[in-house]
Amino acid sequence: MASPKQQTYIKALVEDLKAEEPNIPNAVLTKIEQVVAAVHPDLVAVIANADAITSRRASAIIEQLLVAKGLIPQATLTEAQEKALEWVKAPEQHRDGFLQSLLATWERKKELTEKQWACLLRAHATNGAVKSVPLDMAALLNGIPDGWYAIESRTGNNDLDFFLVTTNAGRMNPANKGKRWVKRFVGGDAKTIDMRTSERIAVAQELALLSPEECQAAQLLFGQEVGSCGRCGKSLTDETSRNTGFGPECRKHLSADVLATVLAQTTELVGV
Ligand SMILES: [Zn+2]
Repeated sequence: MASPKQQTYIKALVEDLKAEEPNIPNAVLTKIEQVVAAVHPDLVAVIANADAITSRRASAIIEQLLVAKGLIPQATLTEAQEKALEWVKAPEQHRDGFLQSLLATWERKKELTEKQWACLLRAHATNGAVKSVPLDMAALLNGIPDGWYAIESRTGNNDLDFFLVTTNAGRMNPANKGKRWVKRFVGGDAKTIDMRTSERIAVAQELALLSPEECQAAQLLFGQEVGSCGRCGKSLTDETSRNTGFGPECRKHLSADVLATVLAQTTELVGV
């Protein structure tokens, strides 16, 4: 039978997992639940009564719980980073758009890029003097690939807005290499137009909230609606391409699974 020591350890591991739960991203939580589900009936039994299962079975449970615990993303933060996070999360904190997007990125990914940390630390150090935070579109658009996006209009009237996300290749000016940009797609000869800074930030923030699957769904929707590839922007000439929103070359970058998921999500995004 399981020893009282094993029982205590199992209880402690379960408590740890429960305590961490609010901080774990949903995708990870699902994996953890699957791992725990494999031993669940025995787990319940041993917590109630150490004699309920064999010592060997208890070891197996402990192993499984350790696997589950290992799935929790460990952000090792410096003291300054922890303080800056605490500061930006405070409910009374007035967060400008940039800080809101940093916080949203943190909540979603439990990580920030070096540049994003630099911005957050500087904002904290100056207690949010907005001017000290550089407008860094690359940081805002971190994780959002270049491409053509269709997203629900912010006016909320079920229309779609179209945007182009690009990265400067530095051909004209090497100093600009790597800079990111968002433009509004208007079609016609102009194709894309620049937006006011405030609008550009607002759109970038919205795009930044998209998961990788949602990014692909938005690109696919662009392709279907506009008839140009959501990834490279070239005209979609055949029917398959128009239906899938991506040209034959760009489709190769999507797995069959992703394509299926993305197609399913498309209807959700349009809201029909
Ligand atoms: Zn393409």
